[in-house]
Amino acid sequence: MSSSRIYMDWNATAPLLPEAREACLSALDLLGNPSSVHGEGRALRTLIENARRDVAVLCGAKPGSVIFTSGATEAANLVLTPDFRMGRTPLKIGRLYASAIEHPAVREGGRFPREALSEIPVISDGVVDLPVLRELLSAHDRQLGLPMVAVMLVNNETGIIQPIAAIAEIVRAHGGILVVDAVQAAGRVPLSIEDLGADFLIVSSHKIGGPKGAGALVARGEVMMPAPLIRGGGQEKGHRSGTENPVAIAGFAAAARKVGEDVGQRIGVVTALRDKLEGEMLAAATDVVIHGRDVSRVGNTIFFTLPGLKAETGQIAFDLEGVALSAGSACSSGKVGQSHVLTAMGYDPRQGALRISIGEGTTQADIDRCATVFAKVAARRRAPGQAA
Ligand code: PLP
Repeated sequence: MSSSRIYMDWNATAPLLPEAREACLSALDLLGNPSSVHGEGRALRTLIENARRDVAVLCGAKPGSVIFTSGATEAANLVLTPDFRMGRTPLKIGRLYASAIEHPAVREGGRFPREALSEIPVISDGVVDLPVLRELLSAHDRQLGLPMVAVMLVNNETGIIQPIAAIAEIVRAHGGILVVDAVQAAGRVPLSIEDLGADFLIVSSHKIGGPKGAGALVARGEVMMPAPLIRGGGQEKGHRSGTENPVAIAGFAAAARKVGEDVGQRIGVVTALRDKLEGEMLAAATDVVIHGRDVSRVGNTIFFTLPGLKAETGQIAFDLEGVALSAGSACSSGKVGQSHVLTAMGYDPRQGALRISIGEGTTQADIDRCATVFAKVAARRRAPGQAA
């Protein structure tokens, strides 16, 4: 990537923090297997247990409740299962109720069969429909097992924050289990599994400035746990077998330490930049629709539709001007898919929307340049065929 490009796709992956890079590099040369009892193995075990404590601190959880995985997708597949244990006793989960705006990692339903999945709608402002959630849980057939509810704390496309504490109250009143995908919330809002009232949180290293390939399932306690997804040598107390990846885990922990410091102050700076850019966008194109602007959102995201400009075309136009942003949800094939989040919010998804997501490395100069490119793209859309 040329140095003149600007990166505005932090929700897809945040740039690697120097602290995380340093931690990865020093872990790379460590010899031994963390499960070995000799000194080399014990040194790696200490690294992993310290990292577990750092990730627990980020999530307001106890270190013993952090299970390292290869990322958030694996953590979701680990926890979204009909088969749980309460200590030694099997515990059946009858149905998964997932919000309509979940990331595919959750929306696909993990290990639940398709017929055991229900969708919780959102109202037009992108917030989960609480009365419908209440109705769904009241109608839940407990003979099948307990209900499980999955709602993300911060949506990856819109940045909208869900009222998790209110959702937790409803879930608790119906004896259910609450899983919260906190991937886009970590480091962007203060995070505490206790305060949220969630039973499980899901976090990912590469969204907070750590390396790709690490994540965690964080539980509120240690008694009620899902059946393992990966069986074998019994690592991670039997919840996730396979030799741990100390390099990725060390980087993940370094990032967790860094983004956990002064969350409020740091996000305040990012929010001011985001708000400035939004102001300039609205001044340049009064018809731009900024989704979720009237509800509680994280301070780094702008999800917008420019009438008359298809998201795919817009993404290419920004890219050619040196601005990396994303359109709808990028499928693994690299093709742009229609946004299920827009559909759930009641918008026509055909035109799509573009997402700008920034972070602490974003500068005032980046914001100015992005605003200029936005104005150019918006003007061109009004006069197709004319040179901008
Ligand atoms: N959940 C959300 C909200 C995400 O944004 C993502 C990544 O795009 C994931 C889950 C999956 O994370 P990972 O890449 O660690 O599997």
